[in-house]
Amino acid sequence: MSAIILCYHKVGPKIEEGRRLNVSPGRLRSHASYFKRKGYRFVRAGDLAQSWSEKTVCFSFDDAYWSTVEWGLPELDRLGVPGTLYAVTSLVGKTSNWDPSCPRPLAGWDALVSAQARGHEIGNHTHSHRRMSELTAEEQLSEIRIADEMLREHGITPGSFCYPYGAYDDTTVEVLGECGYGVGLALNKRVAAATDQRLVLPRIVVGYSDALPMLLYKIYLRPRLRRG
Ligand SMILES: [Zn+2]
Repeated sequence: MSAIILCYHKVGPKIEEGRRLNVSPGRLRSHASYFKRKGYRFVRAGDLAQSWSEKTVCFSFDDAYWSTVEWGLPELDRLGVPGTLYAVTSLVGKTSNWDPSCPRPLAGWDALVSAQARGHEIGNHTHSHRRMSELTAEEQLSEIRIADEMLREHGITPGSFCYPYGAYDDTTVEVLGECGYGVGLALNKRVAAATDQRLVLPRIVVGYSDALPMLLYKIYLRPRLRRG
């Protein structure tokens, strides 16, 4: 049993979003439509705490960019596909600061609450988007806990957590469990297996140049070539 967990960032038609981690709305639609045609079950990341069915796919979006809510979620809504967005609570409604060459607007609280009401999950992406593996245990705990509290204060129930930059250490995983989380998303660039620890599930990053054939190559073919 396995689950394909895709990691998107921005969804926008315009070049000002920057190329690296932006996909166009049409491309996102083509990806979601493909899995729908193939009979996959779409899940929110929090649902991955339960048992998985044979064909499971999860569309996750790091950082909760304004563009993702504005351009991406309507595409998913039209197809009846739930997404999972990871919000950085100190910057909700502000501008990203982790890519100085391309600061971009982030979705506000109202937009996140509305997305949750439409069936999307809003997950915890820490309070200030620092590299968890470089923090003390106390700092890691407060990054997770403050974000959790702020989300809940706004009526949002985070079903899962996502590691900024995919960075974590043993302490992060321990603290995450102590905070009551059952699912944590990392990177690691492969399809998740049922035997994987739910607190460090791997994802496949989707970028600007990933038209459907390239995405399918990354999911199905590349791992086989690597295995040789
Ligand atoms: Zn992030």
